[in-house]
Amino acid sequence: MIRIGHGMDVHRLVEGRKLILCGVEIPHTLGLLGHSDADVAAHALMDALLGAAALGDIGKLFPDTDERYRGADSLVLLDRVMEALSEAGCRPVNADVTIVAQKPKLRPYIDQMRANLAAHMGVDVSQVSVKATTSEGMGFEGEEKGMTAHAVCLIESR
Ligand code: MG
Repeated sequence: MIRIGHGMDVHRLVEGRKLILCGVEIPHTLGLLGHSDADVAAHALMDALLGAAALGDIGKLFPDTDERYRGADSLVLLDRVMEALSEAGCRPVNADVTIVAQKPKLRPYIDQMRANLAAHMGVDVSQVSVKATTSEGMGFEGEEKGMTAHAVCLIESR
């Protein structure tokens, strides 16, 4: 059976934090605030994968009240999500992630983002898409108060 999943996430932008998107540390004056590394794109992807398998969400798997996940590398959390999918008899077909951010320009980092996600999902890079868009200066993304990520995926289940 082919199943579809959707995920979305938002994190605040603040000074004094690293900006990490799909496991790539991107030089910027602001970074995303969160209990883990706040990798908003990886979080949206994980929720899409979990949603496709009807396995809940990352808030259920990795509660932000749990000290084990303070500063956690979200790609390591993605490994855990893939284990949960595998145990449920599911494997990913493809995923498409969109990041909404006013600054910085993300194009130079897209290939590395795709490679990171594909490696941790155990699929070919051709099965993973990462895109970036601005919100034309409007809303909290446009005012650089935060970033949003959306993700959809297909998975195959036995
Ligand atoms: Mg999050």
